[in-house]
Amino acid sequence: MDVPLLDLRAQYRPIREEIRRALDEVCDAQYFILGPAVEKLEREVAAYSGCAGACGVTSGSDALILCLMAEGIGPGDEVITSPYTFFATAGAIHRVGAKAVFADIDPTTFNLDSAQVAAKITPKTRAVIPVHLYGQCADMDPLLELARRHKLIVVEDACQAIGAEYQGRRAGAMGEYGCLSFFPSKNLGGFGDGGMIVTRDPARVERLKMLRNHGMHPKYHHRVVGGNFRLDALQAAVLSVKLKYLDGWSAARQANAADYIRLFAARPHTASLVVPTAAAYTTRHIYNQFCVRLPAARRQAVMDGFKAAGIGCEIYYPVPLHLQECFQYLGHKPGDFPESERAAAETLALPIYPEATPEQRAFVADTLNRLLA
Ligand SMILES: *Cc1c(COP(=O)(O)O)cnc(C)c1O
Repeated sequence: MDVPLLDLRAQYRPIREEIRRALDEVCDAQYFILGPAVEKLEREVAAYSGCAGACGVTSGSDALILCLMAEGIGPGDEVITSPYTFFATAGAIHRVGAKAVFADIDPTTFNLDSAQVAAKITPKTRAVIPVHLYGQCADMDPLLELARRHKLIVVEDACQAIGAEYQGRRAGAMGEYGCLSFFPSKNLGGFGDGGMIVTRDPARVERLKMLRNHGMHPKYHHRVVGGNFRLDALQAAVLSVKLKYLDGWSAARQANAADYIRLFAARPHTASLVVPTAAAYTTRHIYNQFCVRLPAARRQAVMDGFKAAGIGCEIYYPVPLHLQECFQYLGHKPGDFPESERAAAETLALPIYPEATPEQRAFVADTLNRLLA
């Protein structure tokens, strides 16, 4: 039995005709850049996220960059974020010329620890980027309180967390901005790259839309320099179809996670595994990833065993960002962010995609139990 880490073909099969009709509409209209399909998706995703508006962009990475540009954050400014995240979070800070300042994570949620953030605030700090890693929101209330007190902009990196909820509030609707990614492996994935920024502030939507199109307003007049950050209509058409199914898919991921937790608890060698459970403040975990912690010394052998058994798995992320070569200039060393380093050494993502069958999950649990024996 093969169990891939993610099987997008299983998701596509039942909605194939519907998606192809939506693509045909765009082809017949020959309207490919922004336009009605993108505006429709923006309205839908804004409503889904509990926000006033949205700006469709080229990717989640570009969403992060555009938010920082919109706030005029650049050289001389500091932005605090987590070192345990996908590279783009800190890459965006560097790309606008600001300094990435890292703060360590809470080991139970893998998300920014507000006490660590508080210790890193200086007069130069302009923004904080909490990451809602694996589909669970960071503990936002203490972060929002810090931001209010120090007048910081909060850019939520919700690229893995569309529809996740913190105390009933949706990912992206708590800070000034929420950045979403439609990379194919995200819970709402396109047929290529794409992203979106959601915000509760209509004025910010207008500014983002101007900046994503070279700062142009009105046509061929530029008061500021933006760039080409435009989402295309084919992606938007696909995403509008898929958005209707998103809640069902996220519910299936939650059910799969609950099933794994039951299966692991019932087996002698997986019973003591650290499994990802929802924090008390979490009202909705969307399980973009299901990452368990293994003893660091045994992880490679487990990965080899999974590979031999035909089970997909992945390390998210093996090198915390403060130890990446490109950020050497920040002057960090091993030991600076112990919880991020421990997470990087211990976590392993297992197949959690909605269409995985009970037999496949049992096979993963049995195999892991055998490998840990
Ligand atoms: C996927 C992801 C991004 C970047 O999104 P892209 O659309 O691939 O550019 C940024 N941050 C996090 C946490 C992500 O998971």
